[in-house]
Amino acid sequence: MNLSGKIALVTGASRGIGEALAIGLADHGTDVIICDLESESKGLANTHKQIEKTGKKCWSYFLDVTKKSQIQKMVSDILNDIGSIDILVNNAGILTPTSLEDIDEETWDSHFEVNTKGVLLMCQSVLPHMREKKFGRIINIASIAGRQGSPTQGHYASTKSAVITLTRVLAQEVGEAGITVNAICPGIILTEMGKNNLGSEKEIAHWSNVAALKRLGDPKDIIGPTVFFASNLSDFVTGQSINVCGGIYFH
Ligand code: NDP
Repeated sequence: MNLSGKIALVTGASRGIGEALAIGLADHGTDVIICDLESESKGLANTHKQIEKTGKKCWSYFLDVTKKSQIQKMVSDILNDIGSIDILVNNAGILTPTSLEDIDEETWDSHFEVNTKGVLLMCQSVLPHMREKKFGRIINIASIAGRQGSPTQGHYASTKSAVITLTRVLAQEVGEAGITVNAICPGIILTEMGKNNLGSEKEIAHWSNVAALKRLGDPKDIIGPTVFFASNLSDFVTGQSINVCGGIYFH
């Protein structure tokens, strides 16, 4: 799966799954544009360095995916200075566990702002360019939580269900322009978010045992499916969401 000549944009790329995907895409031949919140500048610089080590080009931007004007400026700067965005990976996300009974409006809204509206705004800003090129690959990082949900994750799960639905509908709206839109639903991946959410070693051991493959995920486990959706091997696949969870969830 060689993606040489393509340019990928990855949000939330300073650490965790976004960092792994940005480097993984470069390993498979793309030049990569990475972005994250300004507060994550150290992590972003580290991802940037690692991409350059692969021999591919990298450009970094500070971006809050909830801010439409920032996104529009970044995309316009990219198209002027770099020229293209072939692959968009909507990875930025947040999770603050809390029960639905106790959740306050601010926490509910912030999760929808980042996890769902952020995906929509990024897609809306990049689509005119992809339509012009008659080519585009959009990959949304959802979650197995979006298929089922579990206690203290009702708000997060709802945002990710929305991403799965948005993926299905957008795929139908833009397919005729040569653009595919697919989602990946990671299981429990041992990033900062994954570890914070699990808490104890006991819980990690429990979920490792539940998984068919008897382990939890590493951010690198998400690279293969992302590269597949970005490559021409998936030219006839759109509107789909795939679980990448080591066999924790099967629907
Ligand atoms: P991390 O928390 O490790 O990384 C997420 C990155 O997104 C952080 O750098 C974060 O910055 C950034 N981010 C948060 N808000 C914004 C924003 N408004 N604009 C731009 N960037 C932002 O998470 P993971 O790597 O674990 O998760 C990546 C994606 O995968 C998320 O969408 C998550 O929901 C999904 N996922 C993760 C799973 C897991 O088990 N880890 C399981 C299933 C899905 P900051 O820290 O400053 O907020």
